[in-house]
Amino acid sequence: MAAKIDNSKCIACGACVYTCPFGAISDKSYILDVIDLIKKSEDNTKYKLHAVVAPSISSQFTYAKLGQVISGIKALGFHHVAEAALGADMVAWTEAQELVEKGFLTSSCCPAFVAYIKKNFPTMVDKISHNLSPMAAISKYIKETDPGAKIVFIGPCTAKKAEVQLESVKPWVDACITFEELQALIDARDIELTALPEDVLDNASYYGRIFARSGGLTDAVAQAVKEQKLDFELKPVACDGIEACKLALMKASKGLLPNNFIEGMACVGGCIGGAGCLTHGEKNKADVDKYGKEAMEKTIGDALGVVLK
Ligand code: SF4
Ligand code: SF4
Repeated sequence: MAAKIDNSKCIACGACVYTCPFGAISDKSYILDVIDLIKKSEDNTKYKLHAVVAPSISSQFTYAKLGQVISGIKALGFHHVAEAALGADMVAWTEAQELVEKGFLTSSCCPAFVAYIKKNFPTMVDKISHNLSPMAAISKYIKETDPGAKIVFIGPCTAKKAEVQLESVKPWVDACITFEELQALIDARDIELTALPEDVLDNASYYGRIFARSGGLTDAVAQAVKEQKLDFELKPVACDGIEACKLALMKASKGLLPNNFIEGMACVGGCIGGAGCLTHGEKNKADVDKYGKEAMEKTIGDALGVVLK
């Protein structure tokens, strides 16, 4: 009997995609849309094509340096590569304010976690942060700065492909591909990453960059509370994997959770465990932390200097 996905329950986390031993399940690909966007930009003369890369990119493409991957993305035809981590800085900043105002909040960064709440804990929906995700926040900022721009998000996530279809996100992101699909594009164009010079990524803070792993968002919100001198005792719980999220939500829905902020990431380990990652392993967390420490901007306020002016 053929297996069938019950869409009323599916949260598009992609766990089935990468755990199936036979590779029998695949997610919807927007790779052709991205090729079309590259072609129609006519070398960025018709419109500027921006790539927004998730911070977990720092733990992928282990055979090349991160700066070479950025050069590779530009060699595909992108005008600019921006860090979704700067969107994470924006989210941490405003999420801290929202938390202080409401007193209890769940994060909204992970679309699979948000879908899980909507489908399984409808009474908790009003507790979900109203912030856009980091991907949508930085894309909105780019499009408001350059209204004709087109944006492709490149990340570890299959759930983002569903998120970009939402009415609140659709205007800001034109297509979404995974790291696996980026690798396929690079291979198709015979681009040798290791032969390319190193470009730079220098938008975000340490805190925005560590969103990629479980606990990073919580650290960033705590830092945003501190930097804004908000009078609030943050009592967070960081949940990775749907089982941990379910437990916290169950307790919160019954008034039994001692915490006032739930960081929810559907993938074990956070986004470094995403279904569209090229690698899944212990080293990925260390790579993300190293990438965070390399940030030129040491505080969230520093990273947002340009945006908050
Ligand atoms: S995407 Fe996630 S929720 Fe949907 S069927 Fe696959 S494992 Fe289940
Ligand atoms: S934890 Fe990250 S990669 Fe996994 S579903 Fe959520 S946003 Fe996507």
